[in-house]
Amino acid sequence: MAVTKRTPLPVAEAVNKILNHTRLWGIEKISINECDNRILAEDLTATHDVPPFNRSPYDGFAIRSEDTKHASLDHPITLNVVETIGAGQVAEHEVKSGMAVRIMTGAKIPEGADAVIMLELVKERVADNKNQIIIKRSVKKDENISFQGEDTQEGTLLVKAGTKITPGIVAILATFGYHRISVYKQPVVGILSTGTELLDVNEELQPGKIRNSNAYMCAAQVRAMGAKIKLYQHREDNFDSLYKNIKEALQETDVLITTGGVSVGDYDFLPEIYKKLGAEVLFNKVAMRPGSVTTVAVYEDKWLFGLSGNPSACFVGAELFVRPVILKGMSVLKPHCKVTKALLSKDFPKPNPFTRFVRAILSEDIDGNVVTPAGLDKSSSVSSLIEANCLIVLPGGTRGWETGSEVGVITWHGEGSEWPWDHPLFSKSSAIKTVEKQR
Ligand code: AMP
Ligand code: MG
Repeated sequence: MAVTKRTPLPVAEAVNKILNHTRLWGIEKISINECDNRILAEDLTATHDVPPFNRSPYDGFAIRSEDTKHASLDHPITLNVVETIGAGQVAEHEVKSGMAVRIMTGAKIPEGADAVIMLELVKERVADNKNQIIIKRSVKKDENISFQGEDTQEGTLLVKAGTKITPGIVAILATFGYHRISVYKQPVVGILSTGTELLDVNEELQPGKIRNSNAYMCAAQVRAMGAKIKLYQHREDNFDSLYKNIKEALQETDVLITTGGVSVGDYDFLPEIYKKLGAEVLFNKVAMRPGSVTTVAVYEDKWLFGLSGNPSACFVGAELFVRPVILKGMSVLKPHCKVTKALLSKDFPKPNPFTRFVRAILSEDIDGNVVTPAGLDKSSSVSSLIEANCLIVLPGGTRGWETGSEVGVITWHGEGSEWPWDHPLFSKSSAIKTVEKQR
């Protein structure tokens, strides 16, 4: 097979090419019982005031504050308790001068009452067959009343479309009677690992073979991004059968991720398969390590992600390129990994023309964020993924990095970023400045 020359694209340009092709996944209505972590496709507006009526925040007595104006330890006043209401009940009486209604937390304040005195602050007694309370202090108007609309006013925009539904948002949905909710559909992402060396998880090791870890890792990553997964049987490096498998998988998926076989080796058939499919290859080389051979193509309205077989390269490829396709398709406002900065706790002396993504552990200490590379920094390393919670981004073309340098870090945890790639620390000049400062 002829080796075609590939031109490496800067990461930001590669991601941009992808963004130019994203499309929305469509909308469906689902029950409030199954909406956790889904992405809202409609704005949530308060359909009424909260609370919807003035109510009591305590167990106590609803009274007229005026009646207690002269109440004191020496001059207690007495009120007649005319009825008792619990939450959900409405008083039959209007509270007139000299009257009180025994009221429980959450119950509507009766007509005529303008304050609540807590149970603990009154003395109760029965006199002349009447329930009475004795009050030894004055109560101010509006004391202990939760007012209608004090939490939320009708018509307020509470949550915007494109937001992930958290337990707090579920409470909002329920409060305002949204029982069927418009959410974005989850794209179906197929994952098909290629490689004659691959065994499935349940198989015994054999000479020259390894277990397929990429498919399961990628499935977990993409599931966390909110997509539906279709895991395919891994396949041998065989052009004809692979072509057939991929063509079939494309019939039932929105996105097809393959792992392996995308480089320039004798058994790397993916580039030829894209050609035979007639897929439009957006890029087939990215100026990044690991994962420089990452290839992304579009075929009809489907996506093809050819991720490197190296576990770490595969991991990085999914976070950088698959994530925005899935999340932009759901109108998520921050569809990329979140970006932050940290101080490097290790030297990186090797210059590299490509942007490096180093699996690392981000932690906080008293001076701020510190980032430490995790395990073996080789794209074939799988153990470095155990603890890694971020990727250090070291722009290419620098003279290397020293301990204490400020570096940019991206992480798949948390709320994401609108566009991380313009961060000043991701440019080459920031690196040189930092290194010079150290000297
Ligand atoms: P490739 O991208 O096919 O050239 O594979 C690069 C390296 O990753 C080789 O050492 C493969 O054995 C390894 N590899 C490929 N696919 C997988 C996989 N699904 N799980 C784990 N390692 C893999
Ligand atoms: Mg291979």
